[in-house]
Amino acid sequence: MTQRSITVLPGDGIGPSIVAAAIKILDAAGCQFQYDYADAGLSALEKYGELLPQTTLDLIAKNKVALKGPLTTPIGGGFTSINVTLRKHFNLYANLRPVVSFAGTQSRFENIDIITIRENTEGMYSGAGQTRALDNSSAEAMSIITHEGAERISEFAYQLAVKEGRKKVTIVHKANILKSTSGLFLEVAREVALRYPQIETNEMIVDAVCMNLVMYPERFDIIVTTNLFGDIISDLCAGLIGGLGMAPGANIGKEVAIFEAVHGSAPDIAGQNIANPCSVILAAIQLLEHLNMQDQAELIRAAIKKTLAQGKTITQDLSGSASTTEFTDAIIANL
Ligand code: NAD
Repeated sequence: MTQRSITVLPGDGIGPSIVAAAIKILDAAGCQFQYDYADAGLSALEKYGELLPQTTLDLIAKNKVALKGPLTTPIGGGFTSINVTLRKHFNLYANLRPVVSFAGTQSRFENIDIITIRENTEGMYSGAGQTRALDNSSAEAMSIITHEGAERISEFAYQLAVKEGRKKVTIVHKANILKSTSGLFLEVAREVALRYPQIETNEMIVDAVCMNLVMYPERFDIIVTTNLFGDIISDLCAGLIGGLGMAPGANIGKEVAIFEAVHGSAPDIAGQNIANPCSVILAAIQLLEHLNMQDQAELIRAAIKKTLAQGKTITQDLSGSASTTEFTDAIIANL
């Protein structure tokens, strides 16, 4: 049998250690992948003088699926975000960020099961590279919402709801103030909702969503929203289930899909072997599901669940004292 190749971007900061943990677990679960390693971010800047080399883009295009560590984009200096560039380059229009409660994570909430579907190529982030300083005291940036973009992300959310047997989609917007952009998104999402009468549709303004997520998270099932709101809401959702160390994300396009943690490179804890590897391991589970490798996905999910429930070998962010390596090995022992 020919081995399936996947592209691996270890990334910056805590990236290489948590990506290595995920690979160790994929191997231990018998996934038999061939890994093509590629550089991006600071490691690429040091080696090749650029943040996102063409060879890396070529390797992602070749294998069509990639597991990616977080990347540091240097602040200022005219650097465009590498993540935004990757999403635009491969047209990864849907960012699927699930949060699920695991017993043993010391969260204030139980039974959380929410998926944020974030439009990944438009909104405020699409114009971020074109931000223009007008003079020393003001700046402007562009936000783009298109009918096509709003329609395909809404379709993605409703199709996912049908496929996964979900009950409700909440359309999150700020159409009362951002009348043209958020207004168009809401209008188009409503049109798409009409095609799915079997799914309950709810509309909510983003500020109300923040309060309701903290007070009544059980009222949410699937959230669909624009780029910036989705980025913020998904971090809030991560806070409901024990923090960023438990939050994965899939960036999905028609051809290519890139799986990663929701969080960044965490420079404050880099090099200490204390990062929680679950975010990238859960992203690897999303990758397995994308490749229809449900058995291995379930095997790894069950091992994470068991390790967290045992509560003995977990990292500091989850109120434990284990290292990244010890946590990873405990999950492997539970496979
Ligand atoms: P961050 O997400 O890296 O860290 C926020 C906080 O969460 C930190 O205290 C960190 O220690 C903690 N944390 C994050 N992941 C953790 C884990 N797995 N285990 C335990 N604790 C964890 O946010 P930041 O510090 O604002 O950003 C650092 C860099 O990452 C920036 O350059 C930013 O641009 C980049 N970034 C990249 C991505 C990506 O590649 N997808 C996403 C967000 C931020």
